Amino acid sequence: MLTTISFHPAATHHPKFWISDGNVVLSAVSMDKEQTVLFRIHKSMLSDQSEVFASMFALSQTQDDGGIIADLETYEGLPLVRLHDAAEDLDALLNALQDTSPLSELSTISDTPLRVRPALRLASKYLMNDLRGRLVHIVELMWPRTLEDLESKTMLYDGVRKIEKGGEKWPWVFLPEPIASINLAEEFDIPSILPAAYYHLLRCSPSADWDTVQKLGFKTLRNKVPARWPQLTHSSSHKLLKLREVLDDSVGYWTTYLHHNRAADCDNQKPKVCKELWVSIQKGGKERRRSVLTSRDPLLVLTKTHEELEESELCYGCFDVVERNSRRIRDDIWNTLCSISCPKSRI
Ligand SMILES: [Zn+2]
Repeated sequence: MLTTISFHPAATHHPKFWISDGNVVLSAVSMDKEQTVLFRIHKSMLSDQSEVFASMFALSQTQDDGGIIADLETYEGLPLVRLHDAAEDLDALLNALQDTSPLSELSTISDTPLRVRPALRLASKYLMNDLRGRLVHIVELMWPRTLEDLESKTMLYDGVRKIEKGGEKWPWVFLPEPIASINLAEEFDIPSILPAAYYHLLRCSPSADWDTVQKLGFKTLRNKVPARWPQLTHSSSHKLLKLREVLDDSVGYWTTYLHHNRAADCDNQKPKVCKELWVSIQKGGKERRRSVLTSRDPLLVLTKTHEELEESELCYGCFDVVERNSRRIRDDIWNTLCSISCPKSRI
């Protein structure tokens, strides 16, 4: 029996999710409020994943005194459930329920967080924990989640940036835009990616706008790293300012630590060799300090220095001092990142 039920704005069937043997119709209005979109699906698609939807479907029915169950509202003979979510978000949710792999495909314009967001919003709202976990994992894979991983990615980024400098494309795949990720992580409680995302935001230049670069081409960057600055929230800006303050205050300590306590540990048969190396390390402090302030990338500077010393004739005893001091500073940087980027969470 065809119903005379009406929709405002006018309704249209969803081109993909109008399944001929579906047993429920969901309605949702498009973001521009121009259209009501009707989805005919199987109830189990949603109720198997979400108790909220299971309850919603149960509440869409009524039972009379004789125990006969009837739908409160129907469309073309099927129960109709009106949702207050945007049709685009529901479309994203149903697509993600079918297959999340398109969302995890590497993107050349670093828009994975933006593409994941609609489905993640509804998966979180309707307590679809399994789907939510899979979507969060896609975002987590974009970013290093440990200090060691951040250090190795930092070296990789540095190498890729040098290679790509004269090329036609910027390696977004290796160097994700951080603000979209930070916004998603802050909104949906994904603290695991915040330390690395904020660290990368430190490296970005406020004068390099992501959307402008997309229009004009990456060659206009002049080696600056862009971000979606207009989307940065007040609270994220505050965290970034705190990180910059720590960087400014700590740069001296971070770049001169290498020569602490050297004498007692030297076991070189030719101690003069070590002594000269320590002097050169000490002299290099100024240059390292300048590099950190220019690049806002202390881990890169530390790792490069560490690699250079590994190649040097520094004795095991002295190099052990370098190792221990270097570890302490890198841990200090990581702990600072964690405490400022996600103060209430435990990574
Ligand atoms: Zn030595």
